[in-house]
Formats: sequence, C-alpha cells, structure tokens
Amino acid sequence: MTARVLVVDDLPPNVKLLEAKLTSEYFDVVSANDGPSALRLIAESAPDIVLLDVMMPGMDGFEVCRRIKQDPKTTHIPVVMVTALSDTADRVRGLQAGADDFLTKPLNDTALFARVRSLVRLKMLTDEWRLREQTSGQFGVLQNEGVLNDVATTGAVVLVIEDGEIDWLKISETLNLEGAALVHAKTAEAAQAAAVAQASLDLVIVNLNLRSDDALRLVSYVRAMEKTRYTPILLVAESHDMERVAKGLDLGVNDYLIKPIDRNELQARVRTQIKRQRYQERLRDNYERSLVLALTDPLTGLYNRRYIMAHLGGMVDRHKNTGKELALVMFDIDYFKSVNDTYGHGAGDEVLKELAGRVLDQVRSVDTIARLGGEEFVAVLPDTSEDVACIVAERLRTNVAEALFTMSSVGAEKPVTISLGVSMMTESDSTDSLLQRADEALYAAKNAGRNRVCLAKDGANRQVTINAQPPVEA
Ligand code: GH3
Ligand code: MG
Ligand code: MG
Repeated sequence: MTARVLVVDDLPPNVKLLEAKLTSEYFDVVSANDGPSALRLIAESAPDIVLLDVMMPGMDGFEVCRRIKQDPKTTHIPVVMVTALSDTADRVRGLQAGADDFLTKPLNDTALFARVRSLVRLKMLTDEWRLREQTSGQFGVLQNEGVLNDVATTGAVVLVIEDGEIDWLKISETLNLEGAALVHAKTAEAAQAAAVAQASLDLVIVNLNLRSDDALRLVSYVRAMEKTRYTPILLVAESHDMERVAKGLDLGVNDYLIKPIDRNELQARVRTQIKRQRYQERLRDNYERSLVLALTDPLTGLYNRRYIMAHLGGMVDRHKNTGKELALVMFDIDYFKSVNDTYGHGAGDEVLKELAGRVLDQVRSVDTIARLGGEEFVAVLPDTSEDVACIVAERLRTNVAEALFTMSSVGAEKPVTISLGVSMMTESDSTDSLLQRADEALYAAKNAGRNRVCLAKDGANRQVTINAQPPVEA
C-alpha cells in the first residue's frame, strides 16, 4: 500500500522524525510547517492522510482541521491530530473539529502505524466510491456536494457488546442522549444473533476484554458478514492493550477508546463514526441510483437502449464462444399514434407502462427486455431455439391482445395489439445484423396486417401467427 502522508508541524525536528518513521514503512511523505501551506499542499498533492500538529503559531491545528473537513473536496481525507496535550477536553475539541484521531507525543510506533494504515484503507474505499460517483455523475445526475460534518447522526442503531455493568451504563446513558437505538449483547453469540436480526447497524461498539469471548475474533466476524461489511467498529480498550488494539485496527476496527470512558470523547467518536458511515452509504446509494438512472427507462422501468446494446454485445460474444442459441424479439405497438391522438399523451404513457408489466410477466428471469425508444421494444432470449422463440413471441402477442388496457387517467379501456419480429443469431451475425433482421421481420408483420409475429429466416420473413385479427385504428 503506497499512500501519501502529509505531516504538518511548525518544528522541523518533529517533521524530520515523523518523515523518517513513515518513509521506513514505505509511505510517501510530504510536509508543511504551518496551517496555510498545509491547506495549499492538500489542494496540490491530494494526500491520503494528514498528521497534524495542534500547537502552531498563526493558524492552529484545530482550525486547519476544520477547514479540511468543511471543504467538500477534502472532507473525506482522514486527519490525525498529533499533540503533546493529553487532556480530554482538547481531544474532544479536536474531534469536534472533525479530527479522526489523536496521537500523543512522544509517538508510539505501533499505534502510529496501525492508525495510519487503517485510516488510509478507509480513505481508499471512500476514494473508490467518490470516483464511481463522479463517473456516473457524467450522465448528469446526483452529485454529492455534502461535507462530512453536516451528516446527521440521529436515529442510529448501535450494537454494544459489553459485559461490564458500569461501562454498559455509561455507554447507554451517553448514547441515549444522542437519540440512538441501542442493542445490547454480552457475548459473541448474542452479538452475532443481534447483528443478524437487525435490518441495519450504524455502529458496533465492542469491549476488547470480554470475559467469555475473544473480541478480535468477533471483529473479524463483523467485518466478514455481508450486512456489516461496512459498519464501523469502535473498540473499548485499556491503556496497556495497544498491541491488540493495533491488531484490531489491522482487522478492520475503525476507532478505539481507552478506559476510563470519557462521555464527551465517547460521544465525539461515536458521532464521527456514524457520520463517516452515513457519508459512505450516501456515496454508494448515489452511485447505485445513478446507474439505475443511466441504464433504465424511467417511464417503464425496463432497460434502455444504452444498456441493451452493451448487453447484446456480450451475448453475441458468448454465442461466438459457446455456440449457444440466442433469439431476439423486436416488437412495436400497432397504431399507437392514434392512442395518443384520441386519449392524450398521458393515457399513451399508461399503455406503455402496462405493456412493459405484461411482457415482463411472460419471460424468464434470464431474458432481458428493453425499451429501444418510443413504442419499440426488444427482448433478448439466451439459450432459446427458433421454435421456442416463436412460441414466446406468440405468447407475448396473445397476452397483449387478449385483455383490454386500462387508461385510468381518462377513465377508458382499449384493446391494444403489438407486431413482432423474431431473429436467430447465426455464425456470421453481429449485434447490428441481428437487430436489423428482427426489425425487417417486424416490418413484415406490420405489412401483413399487424397483431402478428414474423420470423426472419433464410433471407425472407415467414409469418408465424395463424388466424390473427387485424387491429382497427382507434
Ligand atoms: P404502427 O402500427 O405502424 O407502429 O403505427 P404507430 O402509430 O404505432 O407508429 P408511429 O411510428 O406512426 O407512431 C408512434 C407514436 O408513438 C408516435 C408518438 O407520439 C408515440 N410515442 C413515442 N414515444 C412515446 C411516449 O413516450 N409516450 C407516449 N404517450 N407516446 C409516445
Ligand atoms: Mg507546535
Ligand atoms: Mg407503433
């Protein structure tokens, strides 16, 4: 893992010392001697983590931290305050400024490296989601402009694994004030059951020194479970536990707290973790929603042309490699223009939606249906023979023709029919030629009177439907 660390300290010997330590662990180190140059360097060199001295003349560490966290472009960069102060009030002040952790001088190497590694890992995960979000943002949707500090922490569900009465009381009182919903477990087994039972968890707090179980084993379990893969974990440890805390951080623990528990510190750390978690969640959600928007048709919920072209490309390659059969059915509503003309565009939209629902019900889950545009659709049927493809196309046709379509916006019902063209993938086909033949077959079905299926075969278009009623224009 090559990560870039920015070291900020007004005293050159302090910078030198940290630089030497980090370089020996193969980190890429940049440094600054005051707040303003630190902020400039962050904009220029995009560090993965900032180690920030608190006491500096001019702009102090708290202020630098606040500014990093207030800028949407840098809000996700982890900041560790490095300080000679060990006063809890100062720690809390730093955490409130948005700092991710505190390290006390003189620095303990184990704590330093474990902390840096774990925060860098988190940062890289966030980077990935931010990048994906940017990519999907190119489609013009849903950019995340928020900053970490503005994320609300209310209504969080927190699993507390603590078998000590006094600490449980302290934790529950503090978190109750935060408006969190608490789930209490005293053993690993109870914790696992609770994690499975909860729909979602915003945070897991675990006592490193559980009497009956190995807390670190439990940590691995929480990390491995699909549902809690991204849930932050906060360890409650004793000051002599640093080796195991470091191990915990390597296993995926996000933060830790040293006993005796200070309420303000607990509150600040809990808030930071929940904010981070929700920020990440928002990035993931935005990404997924952007994908849905980019690849589906908003009216019918079917895939759009962009998606089906990519999908079809993959299917054609697969056919070439495996020789498995592939069928394409293209279809189009008959005299749809007259639906719009008679009942209005809104009613026409209702017909399109109902049509999408009906055809989806008639195909397998491996089949893909897309709206190519307007009132033209395509179904891609993998591993499907010509005979079966014709049967499926006929089934689609009769299912549409059989029952009236309801247009509730105008309080009317109407018969609707579709015409369909079927083409089968051959050795020499490309995506385009396969689509082209289905289109020609569809055109032949329209010419033959509509409400029927035609199959493209041997350079001609053969009618599949027998006894079809030609539709009447509305
Ligand atoms: P044919 O049987 O030959 O297919 O006749 P048609 O009237 O269905 O075909 P034509 O291509 O002449 O008209 C298609 C109509 O589909 C025109 C357009 O107003 C309508 N249309 C396209 N997209 C939408 C849509 O999103 N909503 C609605 N309501 N109508 C649409
Ligand atoms: Mg200083
Ligand atoms: Mg039409």
